[in-house]
Amino acid sequence: MVDPVLDIRDIRKQFGALKASDGISLDLKQGEIHALIGPNGAGKSTLIGQIAGRLKPDSGSVHFLGQDISTQSTVQRARLGLGRTFQVSALAMENTVLENVVLGALGNRGKAFGFFKPVMHDKELLLQARAALERVELIDDEACITAELSHGQRRQLEVAVALTMQPKAFLMDEPMAGMGADGSKKLTKLLRELSNDAPILLVEHDMDAVFALADRISVLVYGKIIATGSVDEIRANPDVRTAYLGD
Ligand code: ADP
Ligand code: MG
Repeated sequence: MVDPVLDIRDIRKQFGALKASDGISLDLKQGEIHALIGPNGAGKSTLIGQIAGRLKPDSGSVHFLGQDISTQSTVQRARLGLGRTFQVSALAMENTVLENVVLGALGNRGKAFGFFKPVMHDKELLLQARAALERVELIDDEACITAELSHGQRRQLEVAVALTMQPKAFLMDEPMAGMGADGSKKLTKLLRELSNDAPILLVEHDMDAVFALADRISVLVYGKIIATGSVDEIRANPDVRTAYLGD
């Protein structure tokens, strides 16, 4: 097993004069949830975008399972097993829950989307899709129209879509955003379970969730990581308290 799974080395990205990533290095180890926290505008989403391949860094590299993936596209990275959930939902609202997962699984295999109906009878795809729905506890809702799901259920569905490509690492940008207490609780439990399959790099504002979930926390402020450590270390760090936790 390759460890670390993800190795980000000295990533730099400027927007005009703004250093959104000012020499960021961090890694994601097998089995862990590594939370990335920091104030609004710190550069968290910019970093996730560069790891996923949506944004090109000015310099620095991203290694995934020992391979330099810095020049690969988002699709290539996804096929290698870099799973993402999206800040902006990519779900087809008018389709059923099951259809969304089948469509996702299909897309992830690089097949054309064309003949949609027959695909819904592909036994192997259905099996894979239902296993993912089982995992996120949405199997009873497989026939529901996606638009009718609660916000929390849509997040669960996005995780199911991500699961169909059997990811070897997850990137998640604020999965708890806009969720009520029940939804966050459910998703917290799900993320804990998922981390047994594949480690998670988790950007999250909900500090209760972060403190409950993270094996390690890195704190990003103005494009720089100012501290990395365990929950206890980060909570006790005076620089972090000043810069972020509001003391
Ligand atoms: P976070 O996710 O931590 O809130 P972002 O990564 O979204 O922060 O943004 C970091 C900084 O980079 C912010 O000041 C933001 O305004 C700026 N920024 C992000 N994307 C762009 C862009 N495409 N063009 C110019 N500035 C950007
Ligand atoms: Mg963001």
